[in-house]
Amino acid sequence: MDVFEQLSSQQYGEVHFRLDEATGMRAIIAIHDTRLGPALGGSRFIEYASEEAALTDALRLARAMTRKAALARLQHGGGKAVVIKPKQEFDRAALLRSFAGFVNTLGGRYITTEDSGTSPEDMEIIRSVTKHVCGFDQHSGGSGDPSPLTALGVRRGIEACVKFALGRSSLEGVHVAVQGVGHVGYSLCKELAAAGAKLTIADVRDELAQGAVADFGATLASSSTIHQTVCDVYAPCALGGALNDRTVPELRCPIVAGAANNQLASDRNGDMLLARGILYAPDYAINAGGLINVAQEVVGYDADKVHARVLRIYDTILEISERAKKAHEPPHRIADALVEEILAAAT
Ligand code: NAD
Repeated sequence: MDVFEQLSSQQYGEVHFRLDEATGMRAIIAIHDTRLGPALGGSRFIEYASEEAALTDALRLARAMTRKAALARLQHGGGKAVVIKPKQEFDRAALLRSFAGFVNTLGGRYITTEDSGTSPEDMEIIRSVTKHVCGFDQHSGGSGDPSPLTALGVRRGIEACVKFALGRSSLEGVHVAVQGVGHVGYSLCKELAAAGAKLTIADVRDELAQGAVADFGATLASSSTIHQTVCDVYAPCALGGALNDRTVPELRCPIVAGAANNQLASDRNGDMLLARGILYAPDYAINAGGLINVAQEVVGYDADKVHARVLRIYDTILEISERAKKAHEPPHRIADALVEEILAAAT
């Protein structure tokens, strides 16, 4: 594997590796960009098939954090930590304390928080060693569950798309098909139902799907065909890759706007959406509510400030949509260009 080739192709700054034999801690911290401020991003603590897979994950995720923070106009760059889960037994607290020591060595250029495989309780352990951590429960003075704020931002993004593509100023009667009613998807349904939208939903977990049907009067769809729903907005809120070579030609909606990360399986799927005349809200622009929430912890949590900033996702999505139309470019490329503008202006 050519590490420097990978770094150069993704415009990387620095990547740090740390091994602690005593606790079995093997971790990578990728700092993609710090022009706007210290890199902020979660710590993944999962098993990886190989070290190469762990590094690739760290690099990909940290770069996405740079984009998300820049478009949310946060004073943060993008970073991510990957802690490779040992296959043999290990002492979790000791391993996390060792990881926290690693974070500390970077002197605040990287601030960690929770991610797949880590929890607010883990952040408390990390806090016992370093101050460069956030993502605590509300009863510990933290920002709490990010999902409702992510959902609020997605609702605002959907409103912007509906205004731009359909000329409608309200979600009353707008039909939204939500794929995945987990933490964010369920909160999004709540937001949309309160705004008078009509909902079709699907989830591979039957009990969650039935709950959303009962709570919001939603129509149930199959999780394999939800993307084919004839509707105004398709909102992917499950896993990445919902927009791919198979699904994009099958969409029957004018707008795709949802919470899931990495919705485009490939950039060319964004081009396919444009060719089909479907407006796409770039995922890292629309789903930044949770990041905005946790970032506020770094400077002192203030729920009103968070709320106001999350509402502005409407303006970001509208700006991207307008620029995309003017330039005849897909919104995901326009969003990338906007990130570069914001980063360049910071230097
Ligand atoms: P979650 O695991 O709570 O919810 C995902 C739901 O999708 C689950 O209920 C799961 O059963 C369902 N699902 C999985 N595959 C499906 C399929 N093929 N069809 C239908 N349903 C399917 O996760 P979450 O926290 O709600 O996050 C959802 C997405 O949003 C993820 O891509 C995540 O990375 C992204 N995201 C979440 C946040 C946040 O604040 N939680 C912030 C930004 C982005």
